[in-house]
Amino acid sequence: MTAVIDLSAGDAVAAGPAEVVALERVSKSYPGGVTAVREVSLTVESGEMVAIVGPSGSGKSTMLHLIGTLDRPSSGTVRIDGHDVSALTDRQLSALRAHRIGFVFQQFHLAPGQSALDNVADGLLYAGPSRAQRRARAEAALVRVGLADRLDHLPHELSGGERQRVAIARAVVGEPALLLADEPTGNLDSTSGAGVVELLRELHAAGTTVLVITHDQAIAAALPRQVVMRDGQVVAPTGGVVA
Ligand code: ADP
Repeated sequence: MTAVIDLSAGDAVAAGPAEVVALERVSKSYPGGVTAVREVSLTVESGEMVAIVGPSGSGKSTMLHLIGTLDRPSSGTVRIDGHDVSALTDRQLSALRAHRIGFVFQQFHLAPGQSALDNVADGLLYAGPSRAQRRARAEAALVRVGLADRLDHLPHELSGGERQRVAIARAVVGEPALLLADEPTGNLDSTSGAGVVELLRELHAAGTTVLVITHDQAIAAALPRQVVMRDGQVVAPTGGVVA
């Protein structure tokens, strides 16, 4: 058990204030010399809803990888839910991701042969509850995203907007510290996309910390705080604590 990170709430609280994301002068360079993110400092506090917005090539995906702990910075400090990413082993990072971050991607990433209920229940596989408990919580999450009458549908029997709602239910079923959405409306028509943004806003209103990465300025403008990126740097923060 020594290698397993203590991810109890007490641990995160002990690590500092309610900062879910704290980047301090973070840079990320790729082999070949491209510096995709340059000296970015950014804080997202618990309960905030933030858009990271910028054109193609501005460093958004790199930010997603850094904040999602899928990649480590070349320099600077990344703290997620109070944990310094550089101090964790790969296994501890996996645990942090599994327990504290809910991911939503443009392509939904649902298991094709599984019902909506089973897809969402799989979001709790690492959390340890019994199968019956997982299914009960999955049902509650699907009700929450407006899919009470779609529990047994397979992904191909759902519309794009409904699939993304399933993916969002899966991301939040474990009550993560951070919901990290990467272009969540990118594969949707405008009506379904607006519904998904509204759902994310509802989750935020209910207390979830939400970070949306998007190139779409209209979506970003609909969120309470925008962090604008260009050429790997934050150029126009509004609100929050951004150094
Ligand atoms: P965005 O998501 O805003 O389009 P990215 O973070 O993907 O921006 O890219 C930022 C910059 O880093 C771009 O110039 C891109 O070409 C470069 N880049 C991204 N990933 C890699 C990689 N794996 N290797 C080399 N360069 C990369």
